[in-house]
Amino acid sequence: MKNNRHVLAIMAHPDDIEFHCAGTLARLKQLGHEIHLASVTSGDCGSVEQGSQAVARTRVREGAASAKILGATFDSLGERDLLVCYNRSALQKVVEVIRRYDPWLVITHSPECYMLDHEETAKLVRGACFGAGIPNFETAAADPARPASGVPHLYYADAMEHKNLFGERIVPQFYVDITRVMPVKTRMLKCHASQRAWLLKHHHMDEYVRKMQELSAERGREIGVRYAECYRQHLGHGYPQDNALGQLLDGVVVSR
Ligand SMILES: [Zn+2]
Repeated sequence: MKNNRHVLAIMAHPDDIEFHCAGTLARLKQLGHEIHLASVTSGDCGSVEQGSQAVARTRVREGAASAKILGATFDSLGERDLLVCYNRSALQKVVEVIRRYDPWLVITHSPECYMLDHEETAKLVRGACFGAGIPNFETAAADPARPASGVPHLYYADAMEHKNLFGERIVPQFYVDITRVMPVKTRMLKCHASQRAWLLKHHHMDEYVRKMQELSAERGREIGVRYAECYRQHLGHGYPQDNALGQLLDGVVVSR
């Protein structure tokens, strides 16, 4: 698919994009791309104090505030935390959001990550990128968008802590230097104020923001820069084969 300057990042929960790919999105924004963010769930389990509906409202607001920093759109697809599944209705929702923005480039979770919501989202986005251009695939939207104009370039971001469920390190296809846009990525993550409090209680992970910076710094050290994010491209049959994202952002490949 040709560069139409629309980029869509779809991840499972409202703050996942800020952890895994917001630096890359900030760089694409600087190059003149329109950025679109989508969260499959509303983050309804992300609190030990508020009920699910109240916390979902808070988190959608936080996601929208973060998106605003990039001048981006923000969509919550309304699935429930811990219940993201590759099924008919979820796939229809992801197809609909892809059709609405018709992005030439899509970023989602690593297919291997610590949480099943993340892995199922990776599958949903993979399926939806393929299906969005197929006119006979119908969604349940009241006012359905037109079929997408082609299969977008699909990229998988890094896994949380750079490892799969066996603790094995994810080997990136390429790295993106995000050093200069780290202040933007940090500001975006800080919009998710409710999560800092929640993670402290549930994971004993204090310093929410510092953790994100540490993870970006760890990848940065692997290529000799201060901060980096990394990617693997979906290269199965039918998907674009050229590394458009790597070419646009001078992606660094490390030979091993
Ligand atoms: Zn998540």
